Parts: sequence; structure tokens; C-alpha cells
Amino acid sequence: MKFGTKAIHAGVHPDPVTGAIMTPIYQTSTYVQEEPGVNKGYEYARGKNPTRKCLQDSIAALENANYGICFSSGMAAVDSVLKLFKPGDEIIATKDLYGGTYRLFVRVFQDLGLKFKFVDMLDASSIKAHITPATKMLWVESPTNPLMNIVDIRAMASLAQQHKLTLCVDNTFATPYLQNPLDLGAHIVMHSVTKYLSGHSDVVMGALVMNDKALFDKLHFIMNSTGGVPGPMDSFLVLRGIKTLHLRMQRHCENGKQIAQFLKSHPAVAKVYWPGFDDHPNHQIAKSQMRDFGGMISFTLKDDSEANTRKVLKRFQLFALAESLGGVESLVSNPATMTHASIPKAERESAGIMDSLIRLSVGVEDVEDLIEDLSQALGG
Ligand SMILES: *Cc1c(COP(=O)(O)O)cnc(C)c1O
Repeated sequence: MKFGTKAIHAGVHPDPVTGAIMTPIYQTSTYVQEEPGVNKGYEYARGKNPTRKCLQDSIAALENANYGICFSSGMAAVDSVLKLFKPGDEIIATKDLYGGTYRLFVRVFQDLGLKFKFVDMLDASSIKAHITPATKMLWVESPTNPLMNIVDIRAMASLAQQHKLTLCVDNTFATPYLQNPLDLGAHIVMHSVTKYLSGHSDVVMGALVMNDKALFDKLHFIMNSTGGVPGPMDSFLVLRGIKTLHLRMQRHCENGKQIAQFLKSHPAVAKVYWPGFDDHPNHQIAKSQMRDFGGMISFTLKDDSEANTRKVLKRFQLFALAESLGGVESLVSNPATMTHASIPKAERESAGIMDSLIRLSVGVEDVEDLIEDLSQALGG
């Protein structure tokens, strides 16, 4: 089945009782048993819920995965992955990481004894030097947030294989429409479902997908034991959102391309970060592992003073100043003061996240209106 067909049909079946084409919202915490232990496959809703089950199967199908598990947030999904490890284990992660992931790593799990190294993954061959006998996992984002760096997932997978490491890829920015890390050799794919998969800025949710049965069993055990599970209403909303994922992504990509080009030629703009440009440092790798380049774009201003950055941000009318991304509406944010404020300034700047960096989540509105808004906000 091709992607658009899977987005609409995978994992969902007409309701066996009524024939309802839409998956029912099974708003229940428990299931009646005929006798102790004799049931229809459902016992208690922390472990399993039919609406959630359809969603997990849908997301797994989109990622060409055997198994999917949904969580109450993207961070709850990351938290469960980290619980696969024990004190002393070491994790090597992408340097310009999502701020919340960085915070969970260093402010929660570092205190519990896990060790983290944050390294520049632009050149996959340089990672080898950081691997020690304690290293257990490579944590990769590609494209990275907010600098749109591209990590060579195939190269990371072969490194993981050589050193018997788990490779986990946060595929939130690319979505399964653009990139399928399991097909490139990753072991686990993580999603903040909150973003493109849901697509309508009305749900917080996370997901993990994997092919290996033993890994699924472990992560499912952690999910059920720790309980960070999403509710049936949210599962339904995401199932509905996914039905238009391919349509939305197509438009996000088209709009993203036009806006990236507009920004690149704008006199007030210093640098545009978008993997679709020929001169992007890993453009060839992006082309080889992604189907298109998406609607996430960051840029810096020639006048990079704080006052000017604030002025530009305040002038946006159509782009809403907000954290998050991946919804139908266009958003603008300033990573240094918003999503990445939890990373110390020196560390932020060493990762290239300057104070004047502006990040756009280009929505699916008419691109002419978006460009007009950008144009007036930049003062030209
Ligand atoms: C938002 C986000 C997360 C965290 O997900 P939540 O659903 O907000 O908990 C993780 N990684 C990336 C890349 C994100 O954008």
C-alpha cells in the first residue's frame, strides 16, 4: 500500500458492532471479563485500549514498522526509551537537540546515573571517537531542531551495528511522509505526535515504533508499568489528523520551499537554514534519505541585536508567535528565549543557536499571504 492510502486506512477497521466507519472512542477504564482471565483481549485501559490500538497500528504502518506504542507526550516516549538503560550506561546524542529532550537527559536521567555526550553529528565518521565500552545508545534528530542539520542515518545505523548500540531517531520534524528511519537501519523511531502527525495543534502525544519483538515487549512493559499513556479521545483526534497527513505534508513542503527561497533573497536576512538548498552542508544526504525537505525553516537577521529580533517577532500578523510546530497554522518562534531557553547560553551558542535565530513552522495557508506577512515583518 502506498503512503496516502495507508494514512487513511492502515490500522482502522469498520466497527464490528455497528459498521461505523470511524473508529469509536472507547472511553472506558476497564473491560468486563467472563471469568477471571477470560476476556476479549482487554483487561485494564492503562495496558490496552481499542482506540489507542488502532492509532498504534496506524503509526506503525506509516513507519513500515512491526510495532507501535503511544504515550501521553513525546517526552513520555523519550522517558520510556531511557528506562531501557541502567546507571553507568552512556548515550551519545545530537548536539542541537530539542530543548525538552536535552533537559530530560541532563536534569533527570543524569542524576539517576546515565551519562550523556552531545556531539556534532554532521560528519558521522567523527562519532566513532566518542564511543566507549559504556556506550549503549545513539540518539539522533534529523533534521535537527532548530538548525535543520541533517544526520546521515544510514551511517549512524552501521556504526550502531558495529558497536552493538541501539539507534533511536526522533523523526518528529521529518514525519514518516518524508523519512522512514527504520528502513535506514534505526532500531527505534520516536515521534512527538503533538506536531505533524496530529497536525491540528489540539493534542499532546508521543509514539515509539520498532521492528524487534523483544524491544517492543520491553518498551510495552515500561509503558504499562510507568503509565504515561494517552486517552482514547486524543487517540481518536490523532487518527483523524493522520488521514490528511500526506495532503498536509505536501503543502507544508511546497510552502516551505517558496518561503525558504524568499528568505534567502531578502536583504534583512543573514542566513537561512533549510535542508533543500544545494549549499546546505548535508544536502546530498538529505536528498538520499528524505523524499522532500519539509516546512521547518530557521533564519538569522543581519541586524542580530535583541531589540531588532524582538521588533521583527512583534510585527508578525499571520504567523503566530508560539512554541510547537507541525500544525496547519503557521507559527514563528525564537528558540533562544522559547524552546531552547533551558539550554545554557554558552552551550546554545556553541551549537550555533544564536539569540536572533527565528524558527518558522510553515503551515498550509496560501503561500502568498504567508510571504506578505514575512515581508512586512522583516520591514521590506
Ligand atoms: C515537541 C518535540 C518533542 C517533545 O514532544 P512533546 O509531545 O512536546 O512532549 C521531542 N522532540 C522534538 C523534535 C519535538 O519537536
